[in-house]
Amino acid sequence: MSRFIGSVCRLCRRENQKLFLKGDRCNTDKCAFERRGYPPGQHGQGRIKFSEYGLQLREKQKIKRIYGLAEKQFRNLFEKADRMKGVTGSNLLSMLERRLDNVAYRSGFANSRAEARQMVRHGHFAVNGHRVNVPSYMVEKGDLVEVRDKSKTLARIGAALEAVKRREIPQWLELDGTAMKSRVRDLPARDDITAPMEERMVVELYSK
Ligand code: SF4
Repeated sequence: MSRFIGSVCRLCRRENQKLFLKGDRCNTDKCAFERRGYPPGQHGQGRIKFSEYGLQLREKQKIKRIYGLAEKQFRNLFEKADRMKGVTGSNLLSMLERRLDNVAYRSGFANSRAEARQMVRHGHFAVNGHRVNVPSYMVEKGDLVEVRDKSKTLARIGAALEAVKRREIPQWLELDGTAMKSRVRDLPARDDITAPMEERMVVELYSK
């Protein structure tokens, strides 16, 4: 699957918002957005006026980039959310949150979603006792996500768990940092997702 391999800090600057794609570095003065908080490129410092379509497109790109999905994956997820009961935008965000790479990140086993995705691919996690190496695997209520025994000594997981003390674990997850286990207490609801995202605009964009 194609993946963005350029500087992810450019993505924050493009979306005019910190997307926290680089873990701890995002909270330091090395953050590129803090230093150059304007869009990249030759005309980045000029005035940009977006059309309604432009605003919807930027919002979709922003959400897609936060979770690190390719367009096709994101669109497929949207279509799934659209077929479900309830509000499409909220369903979409809930499904994004339930991805195993996001759960590993939210639980504090990794410093960023990109790092969590790589660790899932390398087989460092188990769900309900079974090794799962698919980042898009969707957790269910009651699932137990844990670091596998052979991976518990990895320095990067220990460092991430240290760092997580500085950020909040969402209510829908119950972390046991010592045992490196995280229980899905409940499925994430819209109110559990506090990052500024206007999913309504994604629905409007894809409904055109
Ligand atoms: Fe974005 Fe700053 Fe993190 Fe780079 S360091 S990914 S600009 S928040």
